Amino acid sequence: VKLDIPDSELMAEKLGMVVLCANCGRRLEQVGRLGTWKHEDSKLGYCSDRVSKANPSSSYAKPRKLP
Ligand SMILES: [Zn+2]
Repeated sequence: VKLDIPDSELMAEKLGMVVLCANCGRRLEQVGRLGTWKHEDSKLGYCSDRVSKANPSSSYAKPRKLP
């Protein structure tokens, strides 16, 4: 999947300031200390309203790389 992530976001990620989603490229924030993630804007774990039934985990917040 080709993500359209702004350079500024990629730079912030590189600097360890933000965590971006591997599936949708949006910013993530960690939920508690359990290692789960949600999207910063929607406050939801899922990337979109339309979740793939065949592969639900592919549409769930997943860090591109951990801080
Ligand atoms: Zn996502």
